[in-house]
Amino acid sequence: SMQSLSYDTVNGSTNAACNDGGRFRVLTWNILAQALAVGHDNFVGLPDGTLNWTARRLRILHEILLYDPDVICLQEVDHFNFLNTCLTAIGYRGVFCSKPDSPCIYVVNNNGPDGCALFYRNNKFDLISASSRILEIWRVQSNQVCIFATLRLKETGQQVCVATTHLKARQGALLSTMRNEQGKDVANYVASCGGSSKPLVLCGDFNAVPTEPVIETVKTRLFVESAYAKLFGGEEPPYTTWKVRGDAEYCHTIDYIFHNSFCDIESVLMLPTEEQVGPSRLPNLGYASDHIAIACDVKVPL
Ligand code: NDP
Ligand code: CA
Repeated sequence: SMQSLSYDTVNGSTNAACNDGGRFRVLTWNILAQALAVGHDNFVGLPDGTLNWTARRLRILHEILLYDPDVICLQEVDHFNFLNTCLTAIGYRGVFCSKPDSPCIYVVNNNGPDGCALFYRNNKFDLISASSRILEIWRVQSNQVCIFATLRLKETGQQVCVATTHLKARQGALLSTMRNEQGKDVANYVASCGGSSKPLVLCGDFNAVPTEPVIETVKTRLFVESAYAKLFGGEEPPYTTWKVRGDAEYCHTIDYIFHNSFCDIESVLMLPTEEQVGPSRLPNLGYASDHIAIACDVKVPL
């Protein structure tokens, strides 16, 4: 049931009560494209009704809004118009960037390509600029994208940068190398947009476990660290996705929130336990995607 959604946070700050800077909450979530869920992913043992879009779209919204985020970064969005209509009505503004050759469009009855989306709370931020990039591998465009936005906190006037991406999926040495090249391109792009000289949050589905080269590449080139690792004693959470496909069970950490030293992380959202995830794994009627939403509270010192 929805009550099983984890709502606790771990607090890593010693002075969480002081109010000397701009604060905002960022959530990132691969929401599982409806077309991929129905026609591509080959999930096994889903509870009846899990992929019924009329209901699942409301569970996606519920799960986002439960955490009351100021910035919402989403991947595998193949229903941007629905989310944008709903979220605009309650005070968010959003931008979308579709993948050039989304696998969604090859699924019957698809709703168009999937891509990344970024929403921000309109009464909290002014949008200074937003852009997107098709990520390159060895100077050739790939099928993955990145969104970069510069926002101004209305409260304090501070500028903050938020970027989100969804790197190439699948396992194997060549794919790990391709992700690493995409990571270099993300770093170059984010830096070229000004993300290295301002508070930066870079988050998304990197499709890479913590030991993959791309994770170190992103950290080193952008001088960022992981929000979760920082508050979890150097460790990433044990999983951010947990699913049973035709071939195997997948339980690993591939989603991240990175931040640079111009901002602090005050708390991170706890992930559901194995018991909360449940025996059929994800997605299910309690958790709308095979990925788990992760979120953190960011503070930008004045
Ligand atoms: P990716 O390899 O990045 O993966 C696309 C999606 O598939 C991701 O969202 C990923 O989810 C999911 N995925 C990951 N592992 C598996 C798995 N084992 N089984 C099923 N789905 C998985 O795709 P690209 O954007 O690079 O596009 C390539 C894909 O698009 C091809 O694999 C093909 O299926 C499809 N395509 C089909 C065409 C056609 O003519 N039929 C033409 C062009 C593309 P997550 O990130 O959550 O892991
Ligand atoms: Ca997926």
